[in-house]
Amino acid sequence: MKVKVTEEKCIGCGNCVMLTESKVFDFNDAGNAECIVDEVPEELEETVKEAIEQCPTGAIEE
Ligand code: SF4
Repeated sequence: MKVKVTEEKCIGCGNCVMLTESKVFDFNDAGNAECIVDEVPEELEETVKEAIEQCPTGAIEE
């Protein structure tokens, strides 16, 4: 599973960063979330799907 954050859509709420404990998403210097892995570790896939659903601006895509 691969995911990406569309930076222009991200409002930096931090939910995806918090949910994945900064293991998949983390803040960049601009304060927006970005995906920091090429491939989502299998054990975090469910959490990432949750993050996609919960993102308030739909900024995360699989
Ligand atoms: S949940 Fe969405 S809006 Fe919030 S930090 Fe993550 S990508 Fe940005």
